[in-house]
Amino acid sequence: MQSTNAICPSLFNATIAQDGILSRIHLPAGLITSTQCQLITQVVNQFGNGEVQITNRANLQIRTNLALSKEILLDLQDYGLASSCANTDGLRNIMTSPTAGIDPQAKINTISLAKQWNLYLLNHPELEILSNKFSVCFDGGEVISVSDRPNDICFVAVEVDGEIHFSLYLGLGDRGESPLPVNVLIPHHQVMEVLEALTEVYRDYTAKRLNQSFANKLRSRPPRLREMLSDYGVQKFFDLVENKLQYSLRNLSLMPLIQEDRTKKYAHLGIHAQKQSGLFYVGVVVPLGRLTSHQLERLANLAKQHGGGALRLTPWQNLLITDIAEADVEAVTQEILELGLSISANHPYAAIAACSGSNGCKSAHTNTQSDARAIASHLEKCMQLDYPINLHFSGCDKSCAQHHPSDIALVGKDFATYKIYLGDGEIDFGRELYGDYRADDLPMLVEQLLTIYQNQRQPKQSFREFVNHCDLQELANTLGEVIRHA
Ligand code: SF4
Repeated sequence: MQSTNAICPSLFNATIAQDGILSRIHLPAGLITSTQCQLITQVVNQFGNGEVQITNRANLQIRTNLALSKEILLDLQDYGLASSCANTDGLRNIMTSPTAGIDPQAKINTISLAKQWNLYLLNHPELEILSNKFSVCFDGGEVISVSDRPNDICFVAVEVDGEIHFSLYLGLGDRGESPLPVNVLIPHHQVMEVLEALTEVYRDYTAKRLNQSFANKLRSRPPRLREMLSDYGVQKFFDLVENKLQYSLRNLSLMPLIQEDRTKKYAHLGIHAQKQSGLFYVGVVVPLGRLTSHQLERLANLAKQHGGGALRLTPWQNLLITDIAEADVEAVTQEILELGLSISANHPYAAIAACSGSNGCKSAHTNTQSDARAIASHLEKCMQLDYPINLHFSGCDKSCAQHHPSDIALVGKDFATYKIYLGDGEIDFGRELYGDYRADDLPMLVEQLLTIYQNQRQPKQSFREFVNHCDLQELANTLGEVIRHA
């Protein structure tokens, strides 16, 4: 039987949320087969709310009325949706680009690295003491980059003298910050052994910290990797890793920082040619990451009939159907539209992220999910976006749904109002436009804000660039005037 006292849920240890028992199904590389989708559909139809939710780590969450029985957990293990080692299930936090192996511009297919690491976790139950949030990422140099996603350890493919190497990035910053390169370049064939050594040192540190707490009769949670890095410093960490490896990591050349082009962030949506000649993938917009079991089932069937037999979930809470023959692309697209979904990166839902809000979380001041839906359906009716606009709804200051800066951030203040921030600013949410704005008035506000942007921007100027150059007091005054007369 599933336990239900987790802070960070997995399948074997779920969390009791306001709207049910929340279980997280970890999907290495965001891959889920049609057959696996069928089982999940049955589970949420029989025991849950008939819905699944894609997370910002390309995992899947389900909500059920009761804790999952031993029989269901066994089924999920049989179908490869849960680890056969229950205690390390939560560590299967393995991210790759959703276009790994199909992007013509990628340097290497990283799916096999994700699979190797998953296998390593299965065979190393001693890692169960690690924090459930321990996360590893492999970025193969795809256009749809994941190197900026918050991860403890990230390997980014680079080409040096015609050979593929990986630049090592570590999560040195605060919660939610992107990992940073640490000037270590690892040949492709050594990536797994370096990852194993990094993890072993982290495990040794975790064991030491937990033993200290036990000796002092203190309750303690396992430390995050960034706490170890802050305690040891990178220098000492590498000394310990090199000791395990018996070779040096630091005599390798410095690598330049990867410059991220944010305009490509939603480029996975829509129809795209794959690296494999004659094959295409379709990126589907999933409103707030949520699909009904019926939608999931039909999308999984599409992947089985016309694609590679699997869905690829993305850290932007959307999904891809891959390996579609050119002749089938139209039929697949038509069926997606019939499901009430879109494939356009300019659809209002394409770039909206919202945390669970007051229906799912005790800390929430506002109902972020329904407020986000109200804005998206209003925009759908009244205007045509020509550029993805990233709205981030957060029920409180913790910012669970999205860790990177947004175009427009709406942060719950009390049960019916939001603080509204725009673009980049001194705090992570951006610069404050309003300190207290009624939730009911948000659709009109966002419509008018986007209209001002569309009418006044420079050619090719993004929303973020536009608002970063605005005097926000003037903008607030203009908005007040326009809305009064609307
Ligand atoms: S951001 Fe706040 S309200 Fe939203 S899920 Fe996280 S803790 Fe809850």
